[in-house]
Amino acid sequence: MGAHTSDSHPKDDCHLFYNPNMNQILVVGSLNADLVVRAPRFPQPGETISGEDLQVIPGGKGANQAVAAARLGANVSMLGRVGKDNFGDLLLDNLNQNKVDSTFIQRDDSSTGTAIIVVDSSGQNSIVLSPGANGKVTLADVNSVSFPNGGLLLLQLEIPTETVLRAAQHAHERGTRVILNPAPAKALPDELIALVDFIIPNETELSLLTDQKVHDIASAKSAAKDLLGRGVKNVIVTLGSKGALLVNTETSTHVDAFKVDVVDTTAAGDAFIGGFAASLLHNKPLEESVRYGCACGALAVTKFGAQPSLPNTEDVERFVS
Ligand code: ADP
Repeated sequence: MGAHTSDSHPKDDCHLFYNPNMNQILVVGSLNADLVVRAPRFPQPGETISGEDLQVIPGGKGANQAVAAARLGANVSMLGRVGKDNFGDLLLDNLNQNKVDSTFIQRDDSSTGTAIIVVDSSGQNSIVLSPGANGKVTLADVNSVSFPNGGLLLLQLEIPTETVLRAAQHAHERGTRVILNPAPAKALPDELIALVDFIIPNETELSLLTDQKVHDIASAKSAAKDLLGRGVKNVIVTLGSKGALLVNTETSTHVDAFKVDVVDTTAAGDAFIGGFAASLLHNKPLEESVRYGCACGALAVTKFGAQPSLPNTEDVERFVS
């Protein structure tokens, strides 16, 4: 694999092993190093307290979803930026270990995106996010890449919205179906929403996108219909322990959650999206893919952490049977 530097433009020689005509998933999104410290409680302003040993865990919604889909047998490529620092090395190694093609990851002069996370004794967390190189993913990055014809593009909102929009435009033009996870929650231009084949918000994100209260299945359905009116083809609302809701012009179907013992809900949404996308890529029907996503989300909440909790194909098969 070529050097991952912004000046060497590895894309120019990558077509040797990146085949845009192959059915596959391209993720355009964020990579973060999650710096996690457990402490008895959160510090007060000006206070210093002692915590446990630091854990450095690969994260970022883009990378989490790329790894989630790759563990479930999908052919996945990721486009994004990391810094020329040790965390950047760590995140690239992690993608490679999980068989995610990192050819389109560039090394930026900014620092690698980091999330500084304190977890208190009751399991609550408080997070400061430093976007770093994620904030530098440009239109030019997206312009120079081939989109997988017949495949899927996976987008989230931890990189600039204008870059997300451009990626969706390219995908739309080339017959790549677009999946948008509108997280972290923010208002979006209708121009972007209309290019999306599958929008996958949780209740909070759906509420913010539609300016409607979402607190149960009926209110989720009503808000989802509002998004359909803005041009998106399918809305899939993830409802935590209540499962998921699929809404399009033909159907409004609720899929129950799998019953599990909850350890840590981090990355449930990322696991759902990875599973849904991998299933769709393997030409499974829509409702079956939503159910597969629910199984992956349920498995993710039974383990601590983000990427360590993402299941592989065998985990899901064992669980569902
Ligand atoms: P996010 O992490 O983005 O907030 P959700 O909490 O809605 O997303 O979880 C995503 C999916 O994971 C849900 O649709 C559901 O299928 C599964 N899931 C989440 N929490 C639970 C739970 N407590 N029990 C069973 N399944 C869950």
